[in-house]
Amino acid sequence: PAGEERHEFGAEVGRLLDLVVHALYSEREIFLRELVANAADASDRRRFEALTDPSRALPDGAAIRIVPDKDTRLLTISDDGTGMSHDELGRYLGTIARSGTRAFGKDITASLADAKPEDRPSLIGQFGVGFYAAFMVAERVEVISRRVGEEDAWRWSSEGQGSYTLSPATRDLPGTDIILHIKADADEFLEPYRLETIVRKWADHITWPITIQRDGQAVAANEGTALWRKSKSEISEEQYTEFYQHLGHMFDKPWATLHWRAEGTLEFTALLFVPGMRPFEPVESTRESRVRLHVRRMFITDEAALLPPWLRFVQGVVDTEDLPLNVSREMLQSTPVLARIRKAVTNRVITELRNKAKDAEGYASFWENFGPVLKEGVWEDSEHRTEVAGLIRFVTSVPTAPDAAPGQNLVSLAEYVSRMKPEQEAIYYLVGDSHDALASSPQLEGFRARGIEVLLLSDSVDAFWPERLDKFDDKPLRSVTQGLADLSKIPLDSENQAEAADVEALLPALKTALGNAITDVRSTDRLVQSAVVLAASQSGPDLQLQRMMRRSGQ
Ligand code: ADP
Ligand code: MG
Repeated sequence: PAGEERHEFGAEVGRLLDLVVHALYSEREIFLRELVANAADASDRRRFEALTDPSRALPDGAAIRIVPDKDTRLLTISDDGTGMSHDELGRYLGTIARSGTRAFGKDITASLADAKPEDRPSLIGQFGVGFYAAFMVAERVEVISRRVGEEDAWRWSSEGQGSYTLSPATRDLPGTDIILHIKADADEFLEPYRLETIVRKWADHITWPITIQRDGQAVAANEGTALWRKSKSEISEEQYTEFYQHLGHMFDKPWATLHWRAEGTLEFTALLFVPGMRPFEPVESTRESRVRLHVRRMFITDEAALLPPWLRFVQGVVDTEDLPLNVSREMLQSTPVLARIRKAVTNRVITELRNKAKDAEGYASFWENFGPVLKEGVWEDSEHRTEVAGLIRFVTSVPTAPDAAPGQNLVSLAEYVSRMKPEQEAIYYLVGDSHDALASSPQLEGFRARGIEVLLLSDSVDAFWPERLDKFDDKPLRSVTQGLADLSKIPLDSENQAEAADVEALLPALKTALGNAITDVRSTDRLVQSAVVLAASQSGPDLQLQRMMRRSGQ
């Protein structure tokens, strides 16, 4: 045809195309995500250009339009974005000299070449493959585009095999049409309902309206509300709640809502929720945080572990400008950007919990739901250990009013320390199966008689974390069952004063009688009423941990 130019693809494009077309079947639907993302990007860019040149303003009703046509087997994705000039078409769609893929094109081809053939499909699925993903479902792709500010339009056309053509075309308005000649085995992508499902799954949060042509009508396909991108003042509590319920399939209200925008070296928006109830989950399937990662509103993954496992109950979205849309899984694991986002987000959640903890009663309901999960942080997160320890709440041996409001009988380590006896050196705790059993344990006698408070720990994680938390506020943590807590320095309360019996003479006889069942028998200040009590040795595992090990057959 007149004016048609033929161009060869850059070498890398040829290779990428080959891999895309031949290796990726399982996740073909992501082509639509990529094309819709490009349309949204181009619309965003035009809106930005219009800031300085009002003649470039988008038309009223600007949208991304998806039009399937079973008769012609064409699927068209149109936008009112910047469009592309003749040169831009060649540069952007003919080489890998462009934003995302320029930086990662190397990774893609290199890691694909290294991967076993059977691993390649899933590997490619993990990389966004951008515009070229269209060739997974199309035997020919045509792009008709008119750059905003120019009169001429151009047609780019290719079968994805080595070369493309450029020829003059017409288009009434600036913008772009991507026209896919759908392959024989890809009929599903001519089905409006199928397309709608894909848009809902991958592009629901694009803020440009997306429509899909069905029975001759353009039907809205996305909600278009990236709620987190709005400012707080524009969002009602009901909207937050609705979004929270949609996100986590919850039907309660969030206990805490955190919504903020980080600007400066790191740019992201986060909207996070602490649920008001424990999700119904008989067996916990995963410890990973499921907070969703978006890049420029586009959903990328909920497997980016944006929060540590001990904050996995937090739900929400983090949306960043600082990653490319086609970020790979490998990159998600290694990029410093994500590491910095994780850190910022984690610290923010900790700060929020600390603030909310000031309201003891409100905090008690949170503690009831997620306390045991939070405690795992002391066990496994050396970086945040002390901060997490400050968030823990305890039931203690000091009786509280039976009709006390929930939360009133919960104590923090700081409160415990402030109530310590002047002569008391350590923070004492006792681990067991239930508060009731613990409260009546003879292990506590000596402590009670001296008015020393003991933390009563009965979650299964309690057998583990205290030994990791060496000290709190410079006071060591010590299990009352472990070795001989030195209570002799602390005087007994007046009503417990009693003549200390001389039991030393009895010890050798007891040792002989018990033989190998024990390592030692000692006299102790710990008991007041009971005659004997079991103790763990100072260095070995605590009694409760020994019990658990026996139960699990170790
Ligand atoms: P990426 O989006 O990561 O840059 P793509 O392969 O998806 O990679 O797209 C390549 C480039 O082509 C884009 O950066 C953009 O410049 C251009 N482009 C693609 N689709 C459109 C479109 N609908 N409108 C304008 N430009 C587009
Ligand atoms: Mg793209």
